[in-house]
Amino acid sequence: MAKVLYEKDIQQEVLKQRKIAVIGYGSQGHAHALNLRDSGYDVVVGLRPGKSQQKAEQDGFEVLPVADAVRTADVVMVLLPDEQQPTVYYQSIQANLKSGSAIAFAHGFNIHFSQVVPPLDVDVFLVAPKGPGHLVRRTFVEGAGVPALYGVQQDVTGNAKDLALAYSQGIGAARAGVLETTFQEETETDLFGEQAVLCGGITNLIKAGFETLTEAGYQPEVAYFECLHEVKLIVDLLYEGGLENMRYSVSDTAQWGDFVSGPRVINEETKERMKEVLADIQSGEFAKGWILENQANRPKFNATNKRENQHLIEQVGRELRELMPFVEQPIQTKQKDVKV
Ligand code: NDP
Ligand code: MG
Ligand code: MG
Repeated sequence: MAKVLYEKDIQQEVLKQRKIAVIGYGSQGHAHALNLRDSGYDVVVGLRPGKSQQKAEQDGFEVLPVADAVRTADVVMVLLPDEQQPTVYYQSIQANLKSGSAIAFAHGFNIHFSQVVPPLDVDVFLVAPKGPGHLVRRTFVEGAGVPALYGVQQDVTGNAKDLALAYSQGIGAARAGVLETTFQEETETDLFGEQAVLCGGITNLIKAGFETLTEAGYQPEVAYFECLHEVKLIVDLLYEGGLENMRYSVSDTAQWGDFVSGPRVINEETKERMKEVLADIQSGEFAKGWILENQANRPKFNATNKRENQHLIEQVGRELRELMPFVEQPIQTKQKDVKV
């Protein structure tokens, strides 16, 4: 078993003496800044003028332009959207990083794929919460936490690992457990997970099931409940007790169907495709495509997004959810919350 660290294993002193600049105040940024402040750390927020800036000021933070925040800080946590990080880094961060300070990230993409190359006289570490930013805050307030991965890319002061651990504790992650990783492992597993299973895998499994039923003449509403709505109920069982717990709760008929038909749908061929997806991530092919897509102002991203939102399952779903007031309001209308 990998070694999971908790609050009792971590020293906070090393970070207590340092000033932390949290750059960005979105999903992760607001959670890190608030949790660190509540944990007794000295936090300044770095932002451009705008919505986030107003929110951070309302929350009582000193908010400075990114360059100024970096200049005053000993630890700079970059919580900008991944695709914006290289531009902001080269415009406002790099030249202002103090020698012997630390720069940190919540996802390894830009360091691992060399889109951001920090100078050789700073520490570089990762604290990647394994959960959405708003839960990083909510669970902290409730006295719990979201687990996190930490890793060190560059250690010039000899303190990088201790800083990463103290930071993990400051945002509440050490209450749930922190696990050592590398930028490479965090980046590749995070991208693979969201592409093959969590986002790409599940959306396409749901759509294929829905289309199979509706194309066979079944009512779209029935297909929606069967293939999308009920997923949450099943996932809750998986989350609470793994595959065994889910199989315990469903009927034996469902469990038998799981055993005999599941492998007909997701099989060795699917796994071969997953290996291709992983290979594209490992080779940098996926990263290259995403970087170029952003440079071209996201033509494919936007066209696909529009087409996906018009799918029959989405049309039916919108109508059915209106009639289910107990279903929580979508995050996108409330606040940007869930990212993986
Ligand atoms: P968000 O999109 O939620 O927030 C981005 C923040 O950056 C906003 O406050 C935005 O402010 C600010 N910003 C954007 N562009 C600029 C700019 N040019 N100059 C200054 N500020 C800017 O990002 P996330 O919190 O989702 O992601 C941050 C990092 O955390 C990423 O590396 C991501 O991979 C990682 N991560 C995210 C998770 C999540 O739950 N969301 C989970 C684990 C890791 P403004 O209002 O001005 O636009
Ligand atoms: Mg993730
Ligand atoms: Mg991700």
